Amino acid sequence: MMKRMLWIFSLCLILYSCKEPLTEEVQAEIQVIPRPQVITVLEGTFEMTSKTSIKANRDLMVQAEQLRDYLSPASGYVLPINKRHTGGNLIELKLLDELSTLGEEGYEMTITSKKVLITAHRSQGIIWGIQTLRQLFPVEILREAAVDDVAWELPCVNILDKPRFEWRGLMIDYSRTFWNISHTKKYIDALSYYKMNRLHMHLTDDQGWRIEIEKYPALTEIASQFDTVYHEPREREGYYSREDIRELVRYAEARGVELIPEIEMPGHTTEVFAAYPELSCTGDTLSVHPFFKGPGIHNEIFCAGKKETFEFLENVLSEVSELFPSEYIHIGGDEAPKVLWKTCPHCQRVIKEYSLKDEDELQSWFIRQVEGYIQSKGKKLIGWDEITEGGLSGTATVMFWRAGMENALLSAVEQGNMVILTPTSHCYFDYTYDRISTEKVYSLESIIDKIETLNPEKILGVQANFWSHIDRTEPGMDRQIFPRLLVLAEVGWTEALNREWDHFSPRLEHHYQSLDLLDIYYTDE
Ligand SMILES: [Zn+2]
Repeated sequence: MMKRMLWIFSLCLILYSCKEPLTEEVQAEIQVIPRPQVITVLEGTFEMTSKTSIKANRDLMVQAEQLRDYLSPASGYVLPINKRHTGGNLIELKLLDELSTLGEEGYEMTITSKKVLITAHRSQGIIWGIQTLRQLFPVEILREAAVDDVAWELPCVNILDKPRFEWRGLMIDYSRTFWNISHTKKYIDALSYYKMNRLHMHLTDDQGWRIEIEKYPALTEIASQFDTVYHEPREREGYYSREDIRELVRYAEARGVELIPEIEMPGHTTEVFAAYPELSCTGDTLSVHPFFKGPGIHNEIFCAGKKETFEFLENVLSEVSELFPSEYIHIGGDEAPKVLWKTCPHCQRVIKEYSLKDEDELQSWFIRQVEGYIQSKGKKLIGWDEITEGGLSGTATVMFWRAGMENALLSAVEQGNMVILTPTSHCYFDYTYDRISTEKVYSLESIIDKIETLNPEKILGVQANFWSHIDRTEPGMDRQIFPRLLVLAEVGWTEALNREWDHFSPRLEHHYQSLDLLDIYYTDE
């Protein structure tokens, strides 16, 4: 708490002592989203030419190569990377111990006519500095082939920057509609460009299991396919192999994005019972149906009283933990009706054995078993806000999605749990723009405020969710997510005192050109 207060205090001082508000002319050059915390505009420009080189030590070689690869297609220059300065002007990347106040993700960038210097405490900060640098170049730098007649100039500035929240995410639903590797890579690129650092992958749900698990081949042979009676187009089903996941993890890591796997339980699991019916209370074999061809919520859920259920979940989570290096695993936990638990002898036996009050407490007991296993793998558990029902473990992180459940949200914060805000009122990007306009996303602050007055340290961050039951084509999905994602990127990164809609809106207009060049469709309201 103290550290954050100090940072905000010094930020206020810097902003207060800083010169005039940005003039329109200067703003035209600084079109960065999310807005950096402190920008000081200096005299002059830096020009990248064929003589420019990149200077970096071995510990930043991955980032230096990524920078070179970002800049070379459009400019036609393959900038040499050296440990020493070899003449000509220079882009230098450097880690500095004394920048620890900038945290894991902050960076400082100084651009003079001779040199661009990006410094940070950690390599993640260098990645974000590089993304700011890309946004400061003429937008044509995003082109994938040489562009003639563009001077690759940067305005001379000093930027001091670090994120407001640690978690700035997007959830993609891969179950209702499967999205292939190249589409996911496009999203990782876009997230990184806007300094969003988490891609939450909703990999399992009633409409399909989307990740290969070696121990349970029927999950991919049966549960990843829609029942043929529905004649669903083939591209909407399928799964990621272990090699696909490794490839995506590596791609995301190089761009500063962490992939967070979600394995749903105890509800939204009927696709599992198409392959392994013995894991439910009834043991009935179910079929996998498209979203609008069956109930949105099924009564069939994992049996909490069978030891086979926990064996299955532990084996699955063990393989998932190995594939994903993330600190967190999401276990779903939402919309689980307990009708069948009420009459299942196995479930009732557990309620009696552990003196649980009711089926809500049984769900809480279920989640604690799974959390114990996840912790034994060195990971932390995240669940949707229903995991607060029936008593919540103090170490679980809660993803709040039900906009009407603010009291539960505040009591979880009071109890000491970390929370991620993703309310239906502002963050559900499968909703229409009539319901959540681009500007409305900017006002998520009203909910953040309520927690901040209680305990700001408990907000891990913010996230947008995209459920794929309505918009099931790539352009359709893009238009739902963009440009709203850019708005959330700024809410998650930039301190509230440092941003306002009237300043953001013209910058957003400027970024439509970037979205075009990134091959992203968007809705221009
Ligand atoms: Zn049962």
